[in-house]
Amino acid sequence: MRIHAFEDQRTGKAVQATKQPDGTWQEVELQSGRFVACGRHVTPGRSLPCVRPNAIFCAGVNYADHAKEFGSHQQAHPTIFMKSPASVAADGQTVRLPRFLRSDKVDYEGELAVVIARDCRNISRDLALDYVLGYCCANDVSARDWQKDWGGSQWSRGKSFDTFCPLGPCLVTPDELPDPQRLHLRFRLNGVVRQEARTASMQFTVADLITFLAGSSTLPAGAVILTGSPAGVGMAQNPPLWLKPGDVMEVEIDGIGVLRNPVDEEIVA
Ligand code: ZN
Repeated sequence: MRIHAFEDQRTGKAVQATKQPDGTWQEVELQSGRFVACGRHVTPGRSLPCVRPNAIFCAGVNYADHAKEFGSHQQAHPTIFMKSPASVAADGQTVRLPRFLRSDKVDYEGELAVVIARDCRNISRDLALDYVLGYCCANDVSARDWQKDWGGSQWSRGKSFDTFCPLGPCLVTPDELPDPQRLHLRFRLNGVVRQEARTASMQFTVADLITFLAGSSTLPAGAVILTGSPAGVGMAQNPPLWLKPGDVMEVEIDGIGVLRNPVDEEIVA
């Protein structure tokens, strides 16, 4: 199933829905960690984030080539940081460059995101993918000045500004993507490919990350895991390539689709 979220044009209600072969949309509901069609027809209006996470865990430097450009090296355990759930944005929504708490070094990171279906804790690695509700594209937008220079070595501030976590364009259930390590990911800025990777080159796989995050800790249903960015971020260009108003970012993963977000400045009232 490919699950989209939008406002139903007729009722204005936020719904999750899947497109039928005849082109109509049917609402779905989550029941015990699975999507079930509920028989109601809906009409797509304003696009909404395909998932509303209760927590966003992120793997830092999970591709060797990005670790190198970031000046980091391979770790024995995953490096985990968090983004605020309030930073989530929908496909098509404008990413806002912070102007109240200003940043002039905003960067992109194209990533595969994983949504957790059921609470899990202390599970073996070979059962980890049974806990996946679905996959989508993510953009781990990052204010490098707040992440690296002004963040006291903590990354969350620079990663959690409003609109800094676009997720979409839809949630694809695991029956359509049985192996998350066999996907091809691309990031384009204004149509130019800046990042290109196979998820096979992650240092810690999706199953590794779930097992690690669920170790002696409840990894809750509804949590999202961002699995890390490959090389090619703006910070690593010479000169650095910071986002500016008018830019268009696209994260594309084969089998999922394209997550597209324009860039503009924050409007400070
Ligand atoms: Zn990232």
